[in-house]
Amino acid sequence: MTGAVLLTARTDSRAQTVRVGRALGALLRPGDVVCLSGDLGAGKTAFASGAGLGWGAVEPVSSPTFVIAHEHHRRADAARLIHIDCYRLESADQADSIGLEDILDGSAAVLIEWPERIGPWLPADALWVRLELPEETSEGAEDARMLTLYSLGPAERWAGRIGDLAAALKEDAHAARD
Ligand code: ADP
Ligand code: MG
Repeated sequence: MTGAVLLTARTDSRAQTVRVGRALGALLRPGDVVCLSGDLGAGKTAFASGAGLGWGAVEPVSSPTFVIAHEHHRRADAARLIHIDCYRLESADQADSIGLEDILDGSAAVLIEWPERIGPWLPADALWVRLELPEETSEGAEDARMLTLYSLGPAERWAGRIGDLAAALKEDAHAARD
């Protein structure tokens, strides 16, 4: 990985990953592309469901079983949030078949699971969220995940907002402790 690491966070439960996703979702704007990378079970969908909550999606963002792309709406405005899971895409060519060009035309915010499958299509200024299990899992810490937020391209699109996100998470943690 190259590019600027904007934030690292450790979560100890699904709920905590949802919470980080929710904080990010609240900051999303049309044209934002968020790439969720990590192995099966890392928590990509958990993070995406949180992002949907924070963004204000009417329907829950969940794992699309057969549909690769799912479009979400909210009450506040006409903005759209598209969640896509590229796991079942065999090749970048197949990306055509799901209308990836339209999905990434900059009019909607987009959350992408298995973004590696559509590498050539991804914008340089996407925000990447890598989710992984810690290398050493101590007993009782099976639910731990390491989250790394970074951008491979110019970080201007994200740096300020991820700073806000870090502050929001800190406040959240204080509130949870009080
Ligand atoms: P992915 O989309 O990456 O395949 P999911 O979000 O569908 O992953 O599933 C993650 C699984 O791991 C869920 O069963 C969830 O309950 C579990 N889990 C345990 N700890 C965490 C954590 N810290 N963050 C996210 N998920 C976690
Ligand atoms: Mg998933």
